[in-house]
Formats: sequence, structure tokens, C-alpha cells
Amino acid sequence: MNSTYPDSAEQLLRTLPTGLRIGGQSVPSITGAAFDVTDPATERTLTSVADATVDDALRAVETAHSAASVWAATPTRERSDILRRSYEILVERTDEFAMLMTLELGRALPDSLAEARYGADFLRWFAEEATRINGRVTTSPGGTGQIVVAHEPLGVCLAITPWNFPLAMGTRKIGPALAAGNVMIVKPASETPLTMLALADVLTEAGLPAGVLSVLPTSNAGGVTGAILSDSRVRKVSFTGSTRVGQILLRQAAERVQRTSMELGGNAPFLVFDDADVDAAVEGAFAAKMRNGGEACTAANRFLVHSTIAEEFTTKLTEKMAALRLGAGYDAGVTLGPLISADQRASVAGIVESALASGARLRLGGKIPDGEGFFYPPTVLDQVDAYAPATREEVFGPVAIISTFQTENEAVAAANSTEYGLAAYFYSRDIDRCKRVATALRAGMVGVNRGIISDVAAPFGGVKMSGIGREGGSEGISDYLDSKYIALT
Ligand code: NAP
Repeated sequence: MNSTYPDSAEQLLRTLPTGLRIGGQSVPSITGAAFDVTDPATERTLTSVADATVDDALRAVETAHSAASVWAATPTRERSDILRRSYEILVERTDEFAMLMTLELGRALPDSLAEARYGADFLRWFAEEATRINGRVTTSPGGTGQIVVAHEPLGVCLAITPWNFPLAMGTRKIGPALAAGNVMIVKPASETPLTMLALADVLTEAGLPAGVLSVLPTSNAGGVTGAILSDSRVRKVSFTGSTRVGQILLRQAAERVQRTSMELGGNAPFLVFDDADVDAAVEGAFAAKMRNGGEACTAANRFLVHSTIAEEFTTKLTEKMAALRLGAGYDAGVTLGPLISADQRASVAGIVESALASGARLRLGGKIPDGEGFFYPPTVLDQVDAYAPATREEVFGPVAIISTFQTENEAVAAANSTEYGLAAYFYSRDIDRCKRVATALRAGMVGVNRGIISDVAAPFGGVKMSGIGREGGSEGISDYLDSKYIALT
């Protein structure tokens, strides 16, 4: 697919910050090294960014540590105002950030616009939360004194973010960390460092003091983050990404007993009962599957549909998937962009082949188009066994895998049968069933008759191998605070 960049993209590419962000400045790596950022739609280099080394990481820790106490003592109203101003600047630049994300991530512009708004909203939410960090005072039940509970920032925190939501996964960590009085070093995904560097510029423009936020793009993720975590002044790591890398970080954090928040992989089931409104379920299924082109941890990964409505549901969902327009995300009218990389496309294609090998029927797509770019077409597979190997993996692409069930118990058992527990969805018009199934599903988040659940005011996170901790809501800020008990007479 041949694409030329819109004028707004050309302009952005000329003015982007591409240095490391340390001490409020955009600086080169100590070695002067840089690595390329690729446009997934053309496989061409967009630009290159400074490549942080272990020495850069140590410099960032030093800078962060020296800014920590002043920031912790900054009045919460001031911290709040800076986050609020950052939100306002991001809102003014929604189109610019959306284009930037589409350039480095590939996905269609409407999805990037949605993330630009969602990502900005975390800064507004945590600007509001900053001034509501409350402690408590109680009298000891034995009458022996007073119990004062205060909340304090942790100090230097490390955030490691994935490529699939390059803005929102940053603001969902930076917002609460800074609101609570911590300083933060962010290691963005190597595929999408540009958005995070541009975000750091926004925070500086909003008045964030030097050193409070550092951004370290690197081609040596393990080395750089390992060096940061081996410094005992770093008190927390917040990670969003694969379960495999989360396990590595948990082991590293154990060495210095650092706090952890782990937002890991998902394998969300989407159940449609025979009493559901099928048209509404198809709308919800399409939203839950295709948000971000299917590259979302909350994406519906396995559809479990009652056998009596399976054909109607599958036909209608296939029609909606077929209407998607595949192309470079920045081209007008495109609704489905390329995947992030050749590896990711190979992984998606492998899951489809595995499903077909175990007897699935191909209803749509399934064939990689010729030409440049990491494109994969909208694909629908039905007649898949609910426990087939293809249902055990996170697809992370525009592929709907449909199985059937006969009874509620059977559906819930299949839904709960993976090691993950991030999101789950179901459609039913029976209120008793809604209560029963919402309780029975082993997931951190359950969507009842809706396909989109992310909300800045709600606690986002998983159970089982999907993670530890919550981001967003009031829970999101507690993950960046220590409780201190002061005993008074
Ligand atoms: P990933 O490979 O785990 O990478 C995530 C981040 O970790 C990137 O910044 C990556 O850097 C870094 N990293 C890789 N190896 C590392 C190591 N040894 N030590 C420290 N950092 C390391 O995951 P991904 O493929 O980017 O993202 C997709 C995954 O994220 C999916 O499983 C998805 O479900 C999950 N996710 C979860 C949530 C949630 O909230 N639960 C949200 C979004 C995504 P490089 O880019 O340099 O490799």
C-alpha cells in the first residue's frame, strides 16, 4: 500500500523532540547513539531518537532523586495546577498527538483521536485527585492514644510502557505518580517513543520543574531498566506490557523490595447468552474486538455464543468486520491500520493458522495482503473449540474467534479457563443472570451489555496472571502512596 504523509504529519516530523528527557532538557545519549522509529504502514524510517545507555539511566536516577524532596513538598494545589495545565495543552493539541501516534503505531486516525482524549483525561482526573489525598485520625479502641494515618509519596518511581497506547499508558502512570508527589522516570516502548517525548514537552511547558519527569527511549530495555531498579533510591516500578516481562520485573523488584504495579496480558472472553439483544451484542463485540485495531489488552479475544444465536451473531459481526477499510492509518477514510511490526503480524497469522488446523471455519480474511506495511485483514473464524490452542493466546490483532456453548455453566467455565483475568464481557437481558455471571467471572473488569469499559474514574487492572494493582479511579493514586501511622497520646 503506497501512502504519502499528510502535510500535518510532515510538519510534525520536522519539529519532534528526539533527545532523551533528563533534567527538563532534551539531551543526546552519553554515547551519542540513536535508534530508528519505523512507520508500520510503509516500513520506512520516520526519524531516529537518542538511545539511552546504562550511564544515561544512572544520570536520570541521580537527577530524579535530587528533584524528589522539593516536589514532594510542593503544595498539592500547585501539583494539581501543573497537571491541569498539561491536560489543557494536550486537549488543544489533540489532532497533533493523534497524528503522532498514528505515525509511529500505525493504527487508524479515529482510534488515535480517541486515545488522545482518553490519555489527556488521566491528567485531568489526577489533577483533581491530587488535592484529595486524605489521611485519618481515630482514637485507639483501648483509649490509649490517637492513631494518625498520613500518606506520603514513595520517591523515585520507574514506569515502563507498551507501544499499544503510547500516550494513555504514560498519563495513567505519570498522572497519579506526580499528583501524589513522586518523581518518575519513564521507559517508553522502543517502537513508540515519540509520543512520550512529546508528552514530556507538554508537562515542561505546563510548568513541571526540571528532574521531576525523565524519559529514556532505549534499544536496551532490560539493561537500562535493570540498572534503574538496582538503585535502592528507586522505590517503585509500574509496568504495562506482557506477562513474561512483568515476571522478570517482579523478580528484580524483589531484590530491593520495591513496590510494583503490573498491568499485564489479557485474554478477554465475550459471552452472548440466548436472551441477549443480538444486534446490541454485535455492536459491543465489534467495539470490544476492534478498538485500537484489536491491539488492546482489554480486546475481546474469545467469543462464546449460545448455539441458537451463533449463526445470526457471526453473520452480523462478519458484515461489520468486512466493512472496515484497511490502509495507512493517516489516509482519509481508513478505519483499520497496520499492526505494529512484522513479528506481531507473524504472531497473529500463526494463531489463525493454528485455529484453522484444529478445525475452525474461515468466514472472513485470513490472508496477508501483498505489498509494504505490516497489514493484516479483518478476520472471522467460527466453529472453534472453546478450549482450542488458538483460544489460549492473546491475539492482539483484528481476528474474531467464535465458539458456541449450550449452558450458562459451560460458558462461565470456558470463560474462566485461561491463566489470565483482565477484562470479560457478556450480553444478557436477564437481570438475575447478569448478577450471577458478573460475580462468577474471574476478571478484574467486567462489561455487562457494553463493549467498552475503560474509564479514567474506574480502577483498571487484572487478577491472576493479568497483574497486580489498579490504575485510574481513586485506587490509582493509592498505588503511589505509603501509609504512615503516627501514634499520639
Ligand atoms: P512487552 O514486550 O512486555 O513490552 C512492554 C515494555 O517493556 C516495552 O517498553 C519494552 O521495551 C519493555 N521491555 C521488554 N523487555 C524488557 C525487559 N527485559 N526488562 C524491562 N523492560 C522490558 O509488551 P508489548 O508487546 O509492548 O505490549 C503488549 C502487551 O502489553 C500485551 O500482552 C498486552 O496485553 C499488554 N498490555 C497490558 C495492558 C494492561 O493494562 N493490562 C495495557 C496495554 C498492554 P521494548 O519496546 O524496548 O522492547
